[in-house]
Amino acid sequence: MENNVKQISKPIVEWYQKEDKNLLWKQDKEPYHIWISEIMLQQTRIEAVKKYYERFIKELPTVYDLAKIDDEKLLKLWEGLGYYSRARNLKKAANIIVSEYNGIVPKQYEELIKLPGIGEYTAGAIASISNNEKVPAVDGNVLRVMSRIIGSKENILHPETKKKITKIVQKILPEEAGDFNEGIMEIGEKICLPNGRPLCDKCPIKDFCVANKKNMIEEIPVRIKDTKRKIQNKTVFVLYTIDGKIAICKRKDKGILAGLYELPNVEEFVEEGDVRECLKKWDIRLEKVIAKGQKKHVFTHIVWQMKYYEIVVSEANESFIWASKKELDKGYVLPTAFAKFL
Ligand code: SF4
Repeated sequence: MENNVKQISKPIVEWYQKEDKNLLWKQDKEPYHIWISEIMLQQTRIEAVKKYYERFIKELPTVYDLAKIDDEKLLKLWEGLGYYSRARNLKKAANIIVSEYNGIVPKQYEELIKLPGIGEYTAGAIASISNNEKVPAVDGNVLRVMSRIIGSKENILHPETKKKITKIVQKILPEEAGDFNEGIMEIGEKICLPNGRPLCDKCPIKDFCVANKKNMIEEIPVRIKDTKRKIQNKTVFVLYTIDGKIAICKRKDKGILAGLYELPNVEEFVEEGDVRECLKKWDIRLEKVIAKGQKKHVFTHIVWQMKYYEIVVSEANESFIWASKKELDKGYVLPTAFAKFL
């Protein structure tokens, strides 16, 4: 390992210890809080997570509360964050923690990694932040900062690159492992930016950065996606009665958005002239059909390309649940993929 890399630990820890820790989950080292915040942050920006985190902890202040919450209520609390399997895994893990760990969230990496929904990164973050255990927590921010520090042009989306960088971080972890891990992640968020030019003048480790010295910032990190997302065509029907009740139904218990609610839809593009025929299977009596165009929703491996129609129906029938906007907001989890049509 090059000398420059060995020297970054101290300035990172010193920089982080002086930083303003205004985020709620950074104000204590409580593993339950770190766990919830880390899971929320996996796919969501810090700014957006704040309000969800506060509401979640207020409703479910302990692991016991999380373990016994009703599934529908849990998904409602998670609504808007997406990737609902994260919420389900939180509850599964909470039940294991209650039954096998006396309700105390473990602080050791080896125990954490056994729990549902907790991978290497999250286990590393919880163990190092709550317990100073010397384990790395390598997320996208850390991959970007480290590849710039070492001047690596290897694809950071490749598992082998992640393995290499994790090994390097493991070797340079100081006693203050939690502050180091949080510090390097925060440098990635605030200074060594993913989009736009990094703020190298403000960077506490600029003296050790190969990309900065060799003017390679534009070229690093290298991110090449090797999987193409599959495109799936759909037609979504926004069916509503004259008094404003909207038709929804429950999705299957397996697969994408399992067990959540959806707007009626079919897995193909339906032309305007065929809408009436298509809706026959639900025994719907139409008043008016308005073609609205298309929207798309991007999941990790799939893109839904969705045509949609707004349709006024003459009466609510038993094929669907008919809910007012207020009832929808209060009682049903309609994922963003469908909520975007309302
Ligand atoms: S010096 Fe610039 S490129 Fe290097 S780690 Fe710091 S912010 Fe990133």
